[in-house]
Amino acid sequence: MDHQFTPRTRAVIAGRPEDGHGPANPPITPASSLGLRYSREDGTDTWAAFETAIGALEGGTATAFASGMGAAAAVADLLPSGSVVAVPVDSYAGTRGLLGHAERAGRLSVVAVDPEDAAAWAAAAGEADLLWLESPTNPSLLLVDIPAVVAAATASPRRPLVVVDNTFATPLGQQPLGLGADIVLHSATKMIGGHSDLLLGVTVTADEGLATRLREARTVSGATPGVLETWLALRGLRTLPVRYAEASATAADLARRLDEHPAVVGVRYPGAGAMVSFELADGEVADRFCAALRLVRHATSLGGVESTVERRAARPVDAHVPPGRLRFSVGLEDPADLWWDLGQALAAATA
Ligand SMILES: *Cc1c(COP(=O)(O)O)cnc(C)c1O
Repeated sequence: MDHQFTPRTRAVIAGRPEDGHGPANPPITPASSLGLRYSREDGTDTWAAFETAIGALEGGTATAFASGMGAAAAVADLLPSGSVVAVPVDSYAGTRGLLGHAERAGRLSVVAVDPEDAAAWAAAAGEADLLWLESPTNPSLLLVDIPAVVAAATASPRRPLVVVDNTFATPLGQQPLGLGADIVLHSATKMIGGHSDLLLGVTVTADEGLATRLREARTVSGATPGVLETWLALRGLRTLPVRYAEASATAADLARRLDEHPAVVGVRYPGAGAMVSFELADGEVADRFCAALRLVRHATSLGGVESTVERRAARPVDAHVPPGRLRFSVGLEDPADLWWDLGQALAAATA
């Protein structure tokens, strides 16, 4: 059989039990002890099913963690003390928090890079040990040219590791390992889980040596996933292709309408995915807009079936973000209802 199933099909079938006469889904195995095996070290069937499915979509060996930050901490743990890490200025606040924490403790030094500046990445490839890409970035949806950064890393005598936080694009939007990245990282809390009801993270790599070390980092740190969370995230993954396609279509439509609205500037939409970024005149107008929404939830986090919006500049950790900029996570509500809500809130905020 030389047919290669598409990602859409793999999301549905990967990680199913092989016994055709048994249950269609893996069991929820609440276990610490498995005979002489111990789940923190050896995993459980439920974790393995989720890891198999994500691995099949990203093209590598996956390791599940307690959260996206648990996965990120395992990646940072690969680096010897004194290493240099380059990270986008506009990366997820938690990632900058993790790296800043390691820098203050004297373990790492951090270089902040403008994500869209190819020359800055090329320079970073010459001085860093790890390039921590995120594309699109959270919250402003800036894009990193992943193949160009991989080429710069490969050409550099220092040969930094290239890690891509693929949370916003999802494995359906891009597969960074296929573009030459060493490790992919997800907060499965977001679009993979898809229902705002769990915390989970995962790393994926095609390098077996790195896979072993990431798993070892999980074993020694104890950042192990919850069994119910893993099972729910696998259930979420089954519908990711349809949720992603539907949210993308709605997001593209709303981004176009927002772009035409006189009160809105700086709409950013990367062409696929559930995330849109746009700006209102200032922080006060943006706060009035958030307060006036009736359907879209004014809430943090993203990637759920329900649409949410957040003004990230209101948080000290994202003080670099322009004050009127909003991060909009588009869910599965009817696009006509969403546009009604955005329209009435824009009118209320600018009245
Ligand atoms: C949320 C998020 C994380 C962290 O994941 P948690 O599951 O909250 O620990 C990492 N990267 C990005 C881009 C995120 O949005």
